[in-house]
Amino acid sequence: MSATHKSGFVNIIGVPNVGKSTLMNALVGEKLSIITSKAQTTRHRIMGIVSGDNYQIVFSDTPGIIKPLYKLQEKMMQFVVTAFTDADVFLLITDVFEDIQLEESYLERLRRTDKPILLLINKIDITSQEKLEEKLLLWKERLPAAEVMAVSALKQFNIDKIMGRIIELLPAGEAFYSKEEFTDKSERFFVTEIIREKILLNYKKEIPYSVETIVNSFKEDEKIIRIQADILVERDSQKGIIIGDKGKSLKRVGIEARKDLEAFFGKQIHLELFVKVDKDWRSNENRLKSFGY
Ligand code: GDP
Ligand code: MG
Repeated sequence: MSATHKSGFVNIIGVPNVGKSTLMNALVGEKLSIITSKAQTTRHRIMGIVSGDNYQIVFSDTPGIIKPLYKLQEKMMQFVVTAFTDADVFLLITDVFEDIQLEESYLERLRRTDKPILLLINKIDITSQEKLEEKLLLWKERLPAAEVMAVSALKQFNIDKIMGRIIELLPAGEAFYSKEEFTDKSERFFVTEIIREKILLNYKKEIPYSVETIVNSFKEDEKIIRIQADILVERDSQKGIIIGDKGKSLKRVGIEARKDLEAFFGKQIHLELFVKVDKDWRSNENRLKSFGY
């Protein structure tokens, strides 16, 4: 007799930069979500699926919770709202620093839910026992129903324990996806994200936030994948910065992205990048829609 099959949506939420994407990658065991020290690195809801004989966990990584300032950010917060409505288990991530506070309205939603909440205090690799205990007490007060656990997503400390607890908390149910699948996103999506990560890492200030990437062609044969992608910016001046002196900056982005793409697809990659101006795309409803927001 096999045990009852369990399945559910386990949604990772929290303010920017606390380690949501690092945690999701650690739980799934794949680099599905891009990670940088910059806020708003994650713009989409990205699913990471983990299946066993008797369970299927559909994790969702989400953008950090912020007050939206422009249309793109409004769309990003809609992904968060959906993650609040369809969760079977909440993974609320915070870190030992709490530089940004979670808005009271989101906390209130969590106080009203009847779904289990695992509150994970992350980055314990860089704090003291006293500081951690202070945070544990604080969160027991803020969100009494939550089960609080300490974690280091980066050092993979307590990941197995969290996995075990999640499986216990999953409701009974059939698998949502085929057991071979590990994400809801396409290969092209991961290409755009890997390029965007390199842009976040290589440019300062407003530049990364003004960039969107699009894959125009993705041709795979036995030995090599040939990819042509556009890097869209909002203004001409930004185009110059992306390309850099004698094309040096763009070249570096291309080299770094290709390396990660080869690791992700396990194949040789030929990557061609063009920079284009798409005026004010972040505020344009139709453009955002065409980019999948
Ligand atoms: P997100 O914005 O919540 O998705 O956060 P990310 O996963 O992108 O991580 C933000 C920054 O925190 C990155 O520089 C990570 O390397 C770092 N980080 C994430 N988890 C840990 C951790 O457990 N320990 C430490 N020291 N840094 C971490
Ligand atoms: Mg993230």
